[in-house]
Amino acid sequence: MTEKNASALCDLVSMSFDELSEFVVTVLKQPKFRAVQIAEWIRRGACFSEMTNLPAKLIAELNEKAWLSYPSVFQKFVSQIDGTVKFLYRLHDGEYVESVVMQYEHGYSICLSTQAGCRMGCRFCASTIGGKVRDLLPGEILGQILVAEKDLSIRISNIVLMGIGEPLDNYDNVIRFLKLVNSEKGLNIGYRHISLSTCGLADRIYRLAEEDMPLTLSISLHAASDEARSEIMPVNKRFPLDALLTACRDYFDKTGRRISFEYTLIAGKNDRKEDAVKLAALLKKYLGKRPLHVNLIPVNEVEESGFKRGNKASVMQFAKELNALSINATVRRTLGADINASCGQLRHNADKNE
Ligand code: SAH
Repeated sequence: MTEKNASALCDLVSMSFDELSEFVVTVLKQPKFRAVQIAEWIRRGACFSEMTNLPAKLIAELNEKAWLSYPSVFQKFVSQIDGTVKFLYRLHDGEYVESVVMQYEHGYSICLSTQAGCRMGCRFCASTIGGKVRDLLPGEILGQILVAEKDLSIRISNIVLMGIGEPLDNYDNVIRFLKLVNSEKGLNIGYRHISLSTCGLADRIYRLAEEDMPLTLSISLHAASDEARSEIMPVNKRFPLDALLTACRDYFDKTGRRISFEYTLIAGKNDRKEDAVKLAALLKKYLGKRPLHVNLIPVNEVEESGFKRGNKASVMQFAKELNALSINATVRRTLGADINASCGQLRHNADKNE
């Protein structure tokens, strides 16, 4: 598929069932039951030539007038430690993105990418090193799930938008993806089983609160003062802590969903006792007694950033200090440590090698 074709033709993976039906009836001049058949195939990640219950003539017409934006599996890594699977996907235009499938007691969870690259510029993050190349289509985000399910013969029950890209910087496509995934005729996954992680685009958090989608919002906080946060996350200059945490409070008050904060621990930068005290005070100031959770993540050392992770004891100590200050905090379990499972690293290496 050339890029020209891809944009000119209709991506059926990005369509809702009603839109697909309309396309089948008005463009392909076929009866509606063909839309049901095509939707079932798309649900299974099939390409047109695999849709064996369609007449050959219709498959030829589909190839001419439509396309399927699923990514293809370029590389796949399976952790020998815990079975976590990481996919390096290739998109139709040669861009790469990553997804990670993790197994929990209650089922499978997938971490998805929403953009090829990222323009947020967080200094510790591998995904942002080459900047943003483009937004992913709704079907390219959904396709990461469909292809993983097909490849692994599993059903995914939980989704985290925590891979490459800033989901709220690709707002419309992400909202459309969320509706597709939630729809009964789509994957039928409840919003409560979906988390969206953002570096803090406060204006979009207000918009998201109005969408009537009770997602878990996860805020990449990483520092407890504007000075420290602006140094590692340029987005903080646009939306300082006051703007961000006021938006978080609004999100909770509108949706009733507990807010989760990500705090990446960087040795000597934000992992001292005084940082824990500041963090606790900040969260209490803005969120009072509202339920919240802090996820502590020892930083993954990305060569270009030079940031180091502290030892295990210092990480545990930081969690203990927060808990002592009545802040609910846990250290994130590391999965797929042997396969570079944190996002951005493979795409970055694939780009470096080209
Ligand atoms: N853009 C979104 C989602 C993608 S990043 C966001 O910023 O939230 C997913 C999470 O991984 C974020 O909390 C991000 O700050 C964190 N992260 C990125 N690079 C990391 C690294 N090197 N070590 C640990 N966490 C990292």
